[in-house]
Amino acid sequence: MFDTLTLAQLPQQDEDLRPVVRDLVARHVAALPADRRARSWQGFDASFSRALGKAGLLGLTLPRAYGGHERGPFARFVVVEELLSAGAPVAAHWIADRQSAPLIHAYGTEAQRQFYIPRICRGEALFCIGMSEPGSGSDLASVRTRADRTATGWVVKGQKIWTTNSLHSDYMIALVRTSGTPDDRHAGLSQIIIDLKAPGVTIRPIVDLTGDAHFAEVFFDNVALGHDALVGGEGQGWQQVGAELAFERSGPERIYSSVVLLDAWVQHLQAAGRSDCAALVGRLTAELATLRAMSIACTARLAAGESPVVEASIVKDRGTGFEQELPQVIGDDLAAHPDQPVGEELYRTLLYVTHVAPSFSLRGGTREILRGIIARGMGLR
Ligand SMILES: Cc1cc2nc3c(=O)[nH]c(=O)nc-3n(C[C@H](O)[C@H](O)[C@H](O)COP(=O)(O)OP(=O)(O)OC[C@H]3O[C@@H](n4cnc5c(N)ncnc54)[C@H](O)[C@@H]3O)c2cc1C
Repeated sequence: MFDTLTLAQLPQQDEDLRPVVRDLVARHVAALPADRRARSWQGFDASFSRALGKAGLLGLTLPRAYGGHERGPFARFVVVEELLSAGAPVAAHWIADRQSAPLIHAYGTEAQRQFYIPRICRGEALFCIGMSEPGSGSDLASVRTRADRTATGWVVKGQKIWTTNSLHSDYMIALVRTSGTPDDRHAGLSQIIIDLKAPGVTIRPIVDLTGDAHFAEVFFDNVALGHDALVGGEGQGWQQVGAELAFERSGPERIYSSVVLLDAWVQHLQAAGRSDCAALVGRLTAELATLRAMSIACTARLAAGESPVVEASIVKDRGTGFEQELPQVIGDDLAAHPDQPVGEELYRTLLYVTHVAPSFSLRGGTREILRGIIARGMGLR
């Protein structure tokens, strides 16, 4: 049920992580052009992720026994906020750090925890999310990919689609049907860890509107896996995926996707000596500050051991709306001043963000689906 969000503050000991992240960003990221930094989520740099692991900035919410740092969601908020606002390439460790490791920690066996989590905390084991299939996106419960038991473990047949970073990943955590048919809906769904180097796995990149190919179709042709591929309970996949999506939707990542463009535009206004946009810049900054306060309030819920599903859906809905508005208003402003020269870097950044922005409200659950969750939480349906 929906409850009012209470404003919260980031604890000082977590704020103290900022200089550590900024130091790494200054060495690895600051010199990259804005259109490269604008790719942040899609920016893949495994060596940068390993450097974060070495600096103790991955696995912040996880126990020390598995290589984590036992610092909690506020510390992760600070690190993620610093990385995204600088446009750091986070794709290599992103999914594993945010949701695969917490999922394995919550539901995995002791052997699975020990095998995967320390490598995730070092930025060395890269994961992707295998939920969507052709015809099963919003209606996730209708997935058709099957994993059937054999004498030696499991055999997987089927297809996933839109799988971000599957081309670079070591493993996929896939939602599959281990019994029954798609008509059974939630019953019979399980999560399995698929080694993407296993025979029978084919990954075919999908090129998006920007010309990048960060996601792919992944085909499973009788892929044989051991008994230990199952993560959590057989038939518990639906409940586990719900918890995983709460990790995915709760963080600050749903407000910063266009912030490198915002910075580049403000620098352009300053260089051109323009003050006519002061009110607009003020409104956008106030909106960002409000969204940030809401996101910190969600993080406080996570830190209190709650699962703020409705609140996170509100932040994601409003946050992605803000992210999508930025390229529009910035494009309109530049078009309204044709006499003023605009640097190539700003143009390339605007072009990239304009092309990628429609995806902001699709990835991680569409706007309509989130609004359905919000309406249910408010008792409206
Ligand atoms: C950049 C990007 C990265 C992604 N990465 C991953 C990934 O790593 N792993 C993964 O598994 N998936 C990934 N996805 C897939 C994403 O989760 C799905 O695209 C999304 O859930 C929507 O599913 P769909 O594409 O099948 O659209 P559909 O479900 O077919 O929806 C089409 C339209 O109908 C609307 N709609 C559907 N059902 C309802 C309803 N009940 N009420 C009202 N409106 C409805 C939707 O809101 C949408 O506008 C990614 C998508 C994008 C864009």
